[in-house]
Amino acid sequence: MLTKAPRGTKDVLPTEVYKWHYIENIIREICENFGFKEIRTPGFEHTELFLRGVGESTDIVRKEMYTFTDKGGRSITLKPEGTSPAVRAFVEHNLYAEAQPTKLYYITPVYRYERPQSGRLREHHQFGVEMFGSYDAAADAEIVSIAMTLFKRIGLKNLELNINSIGCPKCRKEYNKALKEFIGNNIDNLCDDCKERYKINPMRVLDCKVEGCKTILKDAPVILDYLCDDCKAHFEDLKKYLNAAGFDFIVNPGIVRGLDYYTRTAFEIISNEIGAQGTVCGGGRYDGLVEECGGPSVPGVGFGMGIERLLISIENSGIKIPLPKRTDLFIGNIGDETKKYAFSLALKLRNLGFSVEIDNIGRSLKAQMKYANKLNVKYTVILGEDELKNKLVKLKNMDDGTEYEIALDEIADKIKNI
Ligand code: ATP
Ligand code: MG
Repeated sequence: MLTKAPRGTKDVLPTEVYKWHYIENIIREICENFGFKEIRTPGFEHTELFLRGVGESTDIVRKEMYTFTDKGGRSITLKPEGTSPAVRAFVEHNLYAEAQPTKLYYITPVYRYERPQSGRLREHHQFGVEMFGSYDAAADAEIVSIAMTLFKRIGLKNLELNINSIGCPKCRKEYNKALKEFIGNNIDNLCDDCKERYKINPMRVLDCKVEGCKTILKDAPVILDYLCDDCKAHFEDLKKYLNAAGFDFIVNPGIVRGLDYYTRTAFEIISNEIGAQGTVCGGGRYDGLVEECGGPSVPGVGFGMGIERLLISIENSGIKIPLPKRTDLFIGNIGDETKKYAFSLALKLRNLGFSVEIDNIGRSLKAQMKYANKLNVKYTVILGEDELKNKLVKLKNMDDGTEYEIALDEIADKIKNI
């Protein structure tokens, strides 16, 4: 136990972390391009927020939350998704009183008690965006574009953008009637979870991942046939913008988010590179959510993207993430006085922006050079007593073996210019 991380969690080791930095840097760059500002919310919230914001009929609330009572007797839940905390912060800090829309993004750990498997963890990380304050389908299209732009910059190709409209509470009334009738007629052949979902919220049944249920539900009535004129027009607008941006998409009526405050657009981006857990990004519009969470009636649209699944797709599609920058210089020493000088020289060069390593284990010079080789540094320099006395050093390019005899205080200029 002591030396094993909890089931469903993963360490990101120093040898891997550059991949995360790479993705995070692209995310931040794209969010800046699109005018989205980062928001950081706490790792835990009052449980009630998620009961409201995610919904009691969802798998997250029914089975997956890490909920506990804190020492003050409050019910607390580790963040199982990023949208409700963003909504809570939007309301708490009156962000709706500023110029709209409010465009937020986050990169956050997310906790869900799930059965761990490839692409399904108990702690995973999500990149999420939320835009508040616009009913316009151009906002939905902008949200989709952020995800598509990210995939494009990374070079990921084998992806499918699936879109749907799940209408508004008005058009869903008729639809729910038809759906209830269909599910009622097939209820005996559906899984136990679906039987439960049917009672609380029939639309959630459409989200079931059990193969047997999926087959039956293929023939279920389709929400698109029940959209009111406004919702139809909104969906047409969305398609218009996506076409204008040149994105290929599939209209897939199976993409649902069965809660009342989720409205109109629902979308998923599925990678064909990663098998069963193929959905890398899921999002949509939630015009009733801010109000549901105690705020004014403000519309919203956003997505959540699983970074671990993104990394698996990158890996499986053979894309090579650029390796991290190499160390510029190793300064070797032959003991005492020269070691002291190496220490201060390293500090000076580091402050000039170079990455510099020195010996701080007390190795012999030979062992220091072996270590410098292992570190794959670009240059080495050895400080001996003569070098200090004459203020001249030999700078060695470790890739081609070239040596340059230079003045001690020229090192910075030399490694910058070579
Ligand atoms: P799934 O249907 O795979 O359970 P979900 O509908 O629960 O996904 P969302 O709540 O929409 O997923 O989360 C957004 C994204 O976060 C998902 O598309 C996926 O990429 C990622 N994700 C969700 N749950 C996990 C998990 N347990 N482990 C790793 N990534 C996850
Ligand atoms: Mg899930």
